Amino acid sequence: MKKLITLSRRRFIQAGAAAFATATLPSMAANLVLPGKKRKLGVALVGLGNYSSNLLAPALQLTQHCYLAGIVTGSPEKIPVWQKKYAIPESNVYNYENMHTIADNDDIDVVYIVLPNSMHKEYSLIAADAGKHVWCEKPMALNAAECRAIIDGCRKNKVKLSIGYRMQHEPNTRVIMQMAKDKPYGEIKNIVAGAGFLDRRETYHWRQDKSMGGGAMYDIGIYALNAARYVSAQEPVAVTAHSESRRKQYKDVDETMHFTLEFPGGLTAECQGSFAQNLLDLDVECEKGWYRMSPFWTYTGVQGSTSDGRKLNLSIDNEQARQMDDDALAILSGKPVMAPGEEGLRDMTVIDAIYKSASEKKRVVIS
Ligand code: NAD
Repeated sequence: MKKLITLSRRRFIQAGAAAFATATLPSMAANLVLPGKKRKLGVALVGLGNYSSNLLAPALQLTQHCYLAGIVTGSPEKIPVWQKKYAIPESNVYNYENMHTIADNDDIDVVYIVLPNSMHKEYSLIAADAGKHVWCEKPMALNAAECRAIIDGCRKNKVKLSIGYRMQHEPNTRVIMQMAKDKPYGEIKNIVAGAGFLDRRETYHWRQDKSMGGGAMYDIGIYALNAARYVSAQEPVAVTAHSESRRKQYKDVDETMHFTLEFPGGLTAECQGSFAQNLLDLDVECEKGWYRMSPFWTYTGVQGSTSDGRKLNLSIDNEQARQMDDDALAILSGKPVMAPGEEGLRDMTVIDAIYKSASEKKRVVIS
């Protein structure tokens, strides 16, 4: 009976509260922890690199609707360190070979893929096939076809899929996303978005390796692209891009990507993603004014201002905690997630066109 109940609880979390309300489960319901009341979802982080170690795991100590329940790692030396630091039981520790057996672990509801970009598809699908909800870091994968495969895999397994678009959960960013709909300064005439940081790494790292999904566009240019889409609430119809690589470690990938997006109706966005310099600004020029965010993509301190003197400086304790709590609540309440797989796919469709434009040195119409 215990097995039946825990299994039911897992299925219940998968289906979400709305589905549960109409289901004919019942007598077991009394044994279940009702979603939205106090149940916290267990999250397993896959890949214990910089983002997991320094941002996500600490944020999972602050979240109210989810907690760090497990780890998946190929580095045995990290296991005792993480177990001790976060009280992770042996039964919730996995490697890449046995990760699929997470299917049998009711402590884990969500698997968060925080691996190099080329590994997102494979491990998202393993997580989905194990019946776990999938949170996948940006960029969602290497191309639109891979994104579609992840979406299909999650749909087939009836699990939710969220992409790690941290900014879409950030309160000041949400204000400018709403402005795209309310148009307080009239129609948007022009967007300029530059996202970059000076990456001083000289020795090999997968971000410099094409086969691993390296390059500035995937890593950081995606913030400028996503911002151009969320501030306009439009999809680009064409792009002209060119890439630049000056330092030898970037000889195989774009150290900087410049791209101009064309939207229906003539709006354009001048964008850049770069590992060669710090770029933090998003500028939106409208018919009757302007607004800007600077910085617009960082972990802390995101803020902005408008042409009529308004300050966009809502505070947030922790961006990653907000993102994961929003995504956990969507699962617990059976509501849509804020940044689903389709959002990752839309960016990736444009990124495919950006790389095509840069390599063929011509304007590419986005189909
Ligand atoms: P990282 O290099 O610090 O960590 C990558 C992890 O993957 C390491 O633990 C490494 O051991 C592991 N790994 C497993 N197989 C590997 C292989 N074959 N080659 C290299 N590493 C391998 O990278 P990161 O900065 O933590 O980034 C991981 C993902 O998170 C990326 O997709 C990145 O875009 C994303 N990310 C998102 C944000 C954000 O703000 N949303 C910020 C940073 C990173």
